[in-house]
Amino acid sequence: MTPREVHFDAIVVDGHADTISRALDDGEDLGTETGKGQLDLPRMFRGGLDAQFMACYVEPKYVARKESAKRAFRMLDSVKRWAAKYPDRMAIARSAADVRRAAAAGKVCAILCIEGGHAIEDDLGLLRSFHELGVRYMTLTWNNANSWADSCRESRHGGLTDFGREVVREMNRIGMLVDLSHVAEKTFYDALAVADTPAICSHSCARVLCDHVRNLTDDQLRALARNGGVVGVNFYSGFVSQAFYDSKKAGDEAGEAERGAAMERFKDDPAGMDAALKAIWTKYDGREAAMAPPSLDGLVDHIEHIAKVAGIAHVGLGSDFDGISSLPREVGTCEHLPRLTERLFERGFAEPDVRKILGENFLRVMEASIDARLAGA
Ligand SMILES: [Zn+2]
Repeated sequence: MTPREVHFDAIVVDGHADTISRALDDGEDLGTETGKGQLDLPRMFRGGLDAQFMACYVEPKYVARKESAKRAFRMLDSVKRWAAKYPDRMAIARSAADVRRAAAAGKVCAILCIEGGHAIEDDLGLLRSFHELGVRYMTLTWNNANSWADSCRESRHGGLTDFGREVVREMNRIGMLVDLSHVAEKTFYDALAVADTPAICSHSCARVLCDHVRNLTDDQLRALARNGGVVGVNFYSGFVSQAFYDSKKAGDEAGEAERGAAMERFKDDPAGMDAALKAIWTKYDGREAAMAPPSLDGLVDHIEHIAKVAGIAHVGLGSDFDGISSLPREVGTCEHLPRLTERLFERGFAEPDVRKILGENFLRVMEASIDARLAGA
């Protein structure tokens, strides 16, 4: 088989996309050629992308409004309506077995997941309800800490609280993957200390290659490997390339300050806050899109490093499509994923290892942490 043939023969699983955040409020029909963003159904087929973890990202602003769960439910509903509209081409997968079945039937699938543990509003009943609806991972935090876990950007508790440990145990018990992207290092280790099934970092890179707080140290990579988990490598230029990150950092800090001021100023004016945050996003987004992204080889360097430090069984893809505004041009949208496979072969990865990176590692973790629980193991 040629590399392209392997790509389309393999089951390709991507750990994270924010397409629903992009499309929900604009009412896009994701079953059509949207011409927008980085992912829609036609481009998933052209890119050989079989299964996409579709993030229901709950922005921190919903915490203050006490509408975090409501926002998550709305986003989950929109993924379900998308799939329901295209039953011949798309399915919602609730297990690794579902992913394999859909792929065999020539369909792509979305796997529901929640980004931001504040979505459960400190209620294990809500967590279980999300699971009933098909949610198969939750990032314990986004960049904001919540009342039971610290994030990589905000420390309130010194890691995970006792209730946070209960959340992790309950996720393990019911069969929802614990996603440790975005969390503080202490939260990461606290969660792994109580986890009894493999965890994931759905969209993170290697800290040693790009010293960003969202990336994982070699110690973290080894700890996740001991747990049996997997890291989905993020395609974002600012996580892939130190040079890109350094040149962007000053602008980021200005953006953070402006965001903080806007959150404070418009705290009683949701519409005003939306407009202000959108303007700030556009301002820094635009600036970023004008900067030169790293090459595809820069991205493959992270895959190679994680494979070396954690092992080939512990690395996968976590593009962050539609959540990022700069990525290597060669893989600018999901339709370009075959190019990544070609590059993996050029860089010397053997076919069985390429298949693991493309999807089998994620599927193995799902089988251990989700399918086994659904079967009552
Ligand atoms: Zn994220």
